[in-house]
Amino acid sequence: MALFRLDGKRALVTGGSRGIGLAAAAQLRELGAEVIIAARDEATLRAAAQDIGARWVVADVSTLEGVQAAVDAAGPVDILVSNAGGPPPSLPSQVSGEAWQRGFETTFLSTVRLVDGVLPGMRERRWGRIIAITSLTVGRPSLNLPVSNAMRAAVTNHLKTLALEVAADGVTCNTVAPGYTATDRLKALHADPAQADALRARIPAHRFGEPGEVAAAITFLATTEAAYITGQEVLVDGGWGI
Ligand code: NAD
Repeated sequence: MALFRLDGKRALVTGGSRGIGLAAAAQLRELGAEVIIAARDEATLRAAAQDIGARWVVADVSTLEGVQAAVDAAGPVDILVSNAGGPPPSLPSQVSGEAWQRGFETTFLSTVRLVDGVLPGMRERRWGRIIAITSLTVGRPSLNLPVSNAMRAAVTNHLKTLALEVAADGVTCNTVAPGYTATDRLKALHADPAQADALRARIPAHRFGEPGEVAAAITFLATTEAAYITGQEVLVDGGWGI
């Protein structure tokens, strides 16, 4: 039997129209999974889905309706990759109530609701993979990303707790924490080239990660071979968190 095949499995990848989500969706397709990607912008989504041979659904995962739309369009999901855009930068003392609420809905509640939508079927079929994308900030909080720091920690602990409940049902729950990865998000946060060079110099690997390198960890956790790995945080960070 070939190692690392996903034929016959269906994956829902939210935030799947670009960056790390799209790279993960492409790799899951390469391993034979049927993939549905969800994001908010129809044109980007359609083009991305066409490129990788996936289905797509317009869905804002920060709302209950959006999550419902994604779950309904997907049908029975074996692999959930819960991912969305990260909260904007700010100092911790200056986060507005609205920004906390938005971060809570987009980063934490989205994962809780997506899991609620797909978990019953996974437990029935006794096979499931729940993987949420968090951030290097879980272990080492960044001064300017207070909402991300808090919400990623909440996602991490929620999935660890859930892992305890569903481990005996063939469902694993893990998080993948990207370090500095060369996507639109990183370019927006570090637009100044001198600042980007200084940051690269502080990363033990002396470079930014590639979306495909983060996706490889996500994809491995999705395989049958990773069945005994649950409740874990996998950092893909070039050594930043050491
Ligand atoms: P990105 O901004 O390139 O892509 C984010 C994706 O999520 C896009 O497809 C976007 O359309 C989608 N999206 C955003 N909000 C959404 C919503 N409400 N509903 C549905 N889809 C939504 O981001 P990325 O760099 O690929 O990062 C993915 C995740 O990893 C983000 O949460 C980010 O904060 C986190 N992260 C990234 C880095 C990095 O260096 N790139 C580092 C640490 C953590």
